[in-house]
Amino acid sequence: MVCIIHGFPNSVSALRFEWAWQNPDKSRRLRDIKLKKDKKESPFQFRLRILSNLLNSDPWKRLSLNFRWLMPEYETQFPEKFNNLTHIERKFGLVQKEGEMVPKDPQDYESIKPCSICKNNISTISELVRCQTKNICGSHFHIYCLAKKALTESKEFDTCLIPIKGRCPRCFGTWRWGDLIQDQRTLIQISQIAGENLKIFNAEKLIPKNSTVG
Ligand SMILES: [Zn+2]
Ligand SMILES: [Zn+2]
Repeated sequence: MVCIIHGFPNSVSALRFEWAWQNPDKSRRLRDIKLKKDKKESPFQFRLRILSNLLNSDPWKRLSLNFRWLMPEYETQFPEKFNNLTHIERKFGLVQKEGEMVPKDPQDYESIKPCSICKNNISTISELVRCQTKNICGSHFHIYCLAKKALTESKEFDTCLIPIKGRCPRCFGTWRWGDLIQDQRTLIQISQIAGENLKIFNAEKLIPKNSTVG
């Protein structure tokens, strides 16, 4: 295997994507384009071209996915269409399991900060998303405040519920929505272990002081 796509919200979404990639002539998203292998193309280049079209179609074009070269020495040039896919992050090398430590000492946790947009308190982690440039900025937001701001800026507020990407209103760092949600999921898992296993009081309102982002 030379490359993989990862970062799907769940395994059903990943399997659907894989099926469409392998069956471009049957996939509802691709069959009308009638993709055919060009004589000059290698089978792999043809697969990359199918992939570019797939990542440009619904619902994949609204997901924060990662394209990873597992063996960077096999990296080839992407089809032109691929270079316009700003929601896809390119990565290299094997996937590292990003382990997150669950601190045992309550002193190693801190409270959620007020929302940097509406200035009101954020009551639990399930309402929280964090700026991804945490070491510089560290802003906290209500999930709906940041989504609304980003959708308003991209003029999608009337048509979409979930943004694809945006900017932090304080430090102007860019983020992809999928990465914010992944960070929130990690914080929720930590708080569950902290509350249930370590009996840390109010764990659903606390985040580890040194937790990494992304
Ligand atoms: Zn807010
Ligand atoms: Zn920020």
